[in-house]
Amino acid sequence: MLLTTIAGSLPKPPWLATPEMLWAPWRVPAELLAEAQRDAVLIALKEQEAAGIDVVTDGEQSREHFVHGFLETIDGIDFGKRVTIGIRADRYKAEVPTVTGPIRRPTAVHVDDVRWARAHTDRKLKFTLPGPMTIVDTLADEHYRDRPTLAREFARVLNEEARELEAAGADVIQLDEPAFNVYLDDVTSWGIDAVHRAIDGLRCRTAIHICYGYGIKANIDWKKTLGSEWRQYEETFPLLAASRIDQVSLECANSRVPISLLGLLRGKDVLVGVIDVATHEVESPAEVASTIRRAMEYVPPERLYPCTNCGMVPLPRDVARRKLHALGAGARLVRQELGITSR
Ligand code: ZN
Repeated sequence: MLLTTIAGSLPKPPWLATPEMLWAPWRVPAELLAEAQRDAVLIALKEQEAAGIDVVTDGEQSREHFVHGFLETIDGIDFGKRVTIGIRADRYKAEVPTVTGPIRRPTAVHVDDVRWARAHTDRKLKFTLPGPMTIVDTLADEHYRDRPTLAREFARVLNEEARELEAAGADVIQLDEPAFNVYLDDVTSWGIDAVHRAIDGLRCRTAIHICYGYGIKANIDWKKTLGSEWRQYEETFPLLAASRIDQVSLECANSRVPISLLGLLRGKDVLVGVIDVATHEVESPAEVASTIRRAMEYVPPERLYPCTNCGMVPLPRDVARRKLHALGAGARLVRQELGITSR
């Protein structure tokens, strides 16, 4: 009970990529990159284990970005044709590749990553993939010219990939869908359907991560415009509660999300963000424990997974490391209070 996990990413070592930025360029020559990424995964696994994280990830060490990392080898996307567009309803600008032809996955993207991580940890392993709506929102499209259609195409290749990742040993496959907090009408009309297509036939646990974004300035400024209570989840959680997804990962620490909204996810595992990724200030174990206790008013401990609010990739490494330890220690405190000795 109260098994800990993380949203997905961890900072990369400074010898691998430029620290503290998104889309950070690699610092290793192409011929050494894959080996360097594998080394970084070992460090990421070790650090999570040392901090007491129960369901670990590869720290997303082999991707330049959580969306584009998956797309690099997908046919139909031209990375030479990059354009700058406003993403997440124009919250910030990003340089994105363009869909110029039919979407096809000629080869597995992350199977070797899962095999490598699986071979080097005994813990449960989660692997993250970008969700269909978020992919569609992080691309230019000159071919399909219709977001629901494009999302269905990506759901198809995500499903092909997810089935192979499951076979390679992933215990949990998570779709990252920050766009679900932006395009609420689309979630209803085609977002959930695309997620269902992406997880179709999987026997492992499936998760969806919906957050208010990385701790970058554009997101922090956006949050200031959302008022005193953030109620976006109020629309999406009932849809997710009725969906076939097993787990929902959400932002909670230091957020203005009313905690009672967690009650809308009855029947699902809830990955409660108890670590704020938008500040370098490190939570104390007592603060983490207090957020877990508040969440326990709405989520039973066997369904509650203390987690980070979002990925930690843009954070300084030592900050992320200390936050991991706070997460592990805070969950331990509450387990002790509840007299839980086994996991
Ligand atoms: Zn996130």
